[in-house]
Amino acid sequence: MRPITALTFDLDDTFWDNAPVMARTETGHYDWLHERVGHAEHFPLEEYQRRRLAFAARHPVRRGDFTWVRRETLREMLVEFGLEAADAAHWAEAAIERMLALRHEIEVFEEVPAMLDALGQRYRLGAITNGNVDLTRLAIGRHFPVIINAGESLAPKPDARPFLAALARLGPVPPSQGLHVGDSWREDVLPARRLGMRVAWIDKDDERPASLPEGVYRLGHIRELPALLDGLEG
Ligand SMILES: [Mg+2]
Repeated sequence: MRPITALTFDLDDTFWDNAPVMARTETGHYDWLHERVGHAEHFPLEEYQRRRLAFAARHPVRRGDFTWVRRETLREMLVEFGLEAADAAHWAEAAIERMLALRHEIEVFEEVPAMLDALGQRYRLGAITNGNVDLTRLAIGRHFPVIINAGESLAPKPDARPFLAALARLGPVPPSQGLHVGDSWREDVLPARRLGMRVAWIDKDDERPASLPEGVYRLGHIRELPALLDGLEG
């Protein structure tokens, strides 16, 4: 087998547990806005969530850009609530800034910083996320010469393009020399494998399937990655 020279990583639920981050972010920015504008009695959180889905359905091309969908949904809602257009835009933007601040209050798994230090000596490292985390805002971002925010592009995962872009910018590295690490079967494992990359699948729900496709390896947690790589390279 070809040696592995580059690793690409998913972010959410790969380097940290994302459910508590999203729960804090979702209620946090909405409550913050309500304290300033008083809109939430007319538009409870569930209505905001319903409208986001409806807005995204009306804009299929940009529906993966969650930050944009949130901002535009809030702006429309605040106009409907009775704010002047300029005020609605101002408060929607302010709430989004609050949302993004909360979104980056992340605790990476404790083994991750030292692991990336070591892996960065041996491999080129890239990140590919559909989420709206700006990796450069986190301390671990310094390990990644290539970061692809695919959700904000026209081609989020499972599209092949963000993987191909990462590999191109990491070398170029042929897919056969790349290993992708991620938790989503649909958005990480299948597209990377289809390109001919090897894949470390983080089985965060402990599904433990009886068999895996060739070139796909199961990890119970990201902390098991160095041992997997040692085995593959051994
Ligand atoms: Mg993920």
